[in-house]
Amino acid sequence: MVCWAFSNEKKTMNSKRVKNLNEGIDSHGSIVYWMNRDQRVKDNYALLYSQKLAKENKTQLAVFFHFPQNNPKLNRYQLNFLILGLKEIEKDLKILKISFSVLIGNDEIVIPQFLDEVDAGQLITDFSPLREDRIRVKKVLNKINFAFYQVDTHNIVPVWEASNKQEYAARTIRPKINKLLPAYLVEPRQLEIHPIPPVKRQMPIHWNELINKIGIDISNTKKTEFLPGEQAGLDQLRFFIDHHLTKYNSKRNNPNSNYQSNLSPYLHFGQLSALRVALSILESNIEEEKQEVFLEQVIIRKELADNFCYYNEKYDDFEGFPAWAKKSLDAHREDEREYIYTLEMLEEAKTHDPLWNAAQQEMKFNGKMHGYMRMYWAKKILEWSFSPEIALKHAIALNNKYEIDGNDPNGYTGIAWSIGGVHDRPWFERPVFGLVRYMSYNGCKSKFAINDYINKNSCISESNGSVKN
Ligand code: FAD
Repeated sequence: MVCWAFSNEKKTMNSKRVKNLNEGIDSHGSIVYWMNRDQRVKDNYALLYSQKLAKENKTQLAVFFHFPQNNPKLNRYQLNFLILGLKEIEKDLKILKISFSVLIGNDEIVIPQFLDEVDAGQLITDFSPLREDRIRVKKVLNKINFAFYQVDTHNIVPVWEASNKQEYAARTIRPKINKLLPAYLVEPRQLEIHPIPPVKRQMPIHWNELINKIGIDISNTKKTEFLPGEQAGLDQLRFFIDHHLTKYNSKRNNPNSNYQSNLSPYLHFGQLSALRVALSILESNIEEEKQEVFLEQVIIRKELADNFCYYNEKYDDFEGFPAWAKKSLDAHREDEREYIYTLEMLEEAKTHDPLWNAAQQEMKFNGKMHGYMRMYWAKKILEWSFSPEIALKHAIALNNKYEIDGNDPNGYTGIAWSIGGVHDRPWFERPVFGLVRYMSYNGCKSKFAINDYINKNSCISESNGSVKN
């Protein structure tokens, strides 16, 4: 661990955001930040830390983003969102005299090559608990001998500080996070114009060439309600606070009303920091209780999801479920399923349940399913699959393929909650689900006007353009 203060107070607490990944030496080359999960210039502690090192070493600061060679996890809507965000970063970093590059190709080849080209002396990256990100970091770690640091700038309380183990539930992580929050919920410093400009003149990035190499055509990407980028994320936050926060508690679980914050695309791509969200909510004039309901989601639930994926390497596997849920689901393996659907039938929204089909359509054609329906959607996949393993596989595949915020710890955890009782408690025994909490069509009917939801989402069709193709 290294010590450095990111904000104006509580030095020792904030220094704990940084992890030294190797015993590599701090050599005298340039400082390089590998931007991965946190794709923003403002409120980015990894970037701030990089600039601090660069200033201390009186050297230039280079930032890069890397696309693995084949990135089947991105649909064109997600790619478009990401690319437009990166274009904004290129512009903003240029003003700050910090170079920005986008690489594509085998990480073990192109990243070390780039580090060589810019004469890197120290490398910094941000933090993601997901397997593929951890593998990439490890691969690069094996290729370099200078210092490599990781900064958790995604969580308000760094994941390794909030807890040193997998937490059982929100109730067990909440007191730990709340105790540390006063030290972390503080206004961060911001980047300055870098005093040592890049040695070579920065050439503009050839975006079209890059997109061709990625091989996903984003030219006719369907327009949705979410504009990509850091500024758009801040605008969405402002809009939510000014217009929807007061009614968030009473209306967020009604899929017919758009009272969720819609911040997940920005948080997922790191275009907006959870810290900025929390600070802005606390600065608003809204009553404290109303603030708290939202902060519970964006701090406790979100950071609990990172905790799950960080400490449970089987976060996307039946084996990662709690023992009581595994035992109970095992005991119900042979139960008769009234309906069984293949992945294709689910994907095409061809089930007997119009409410489920509507939710699938909403995700497939709008790129974001309402939060309440996500629970129902995943639980029904368990009910209609041969086994919990198949249900888990199908839910993850569809979620990551179509949700704009897919392939996120929140998604893996939400699915594991729905299908495997993660962070939940045993409920009443019933077929197929065992003790895992059940949700029913009639339960939804009693909570909101399901026909309005069905009608709204059944009208969306191929002609509106899927987010995938
Ligand atoms: P808001 O209600 O406005 O919440 C604000 C923020 O709080 C969210 O953006 C998110 O960061 C956090 N948050 C809210 N609910 C949760 C939760 N249950 N768990 C963790 N964090 C939460 N979230 C994703 O970001 N990506 C996913 O792929 C994803 N898939 C899910 C799949 C299932 C089956 C379930 C049950 C949940 C999933 N979630 C996922 C969590 C949650 O549904 C979404 O974060 C939320 O609906 C996003 O919309 P919003 O930003 O408008 O939410």
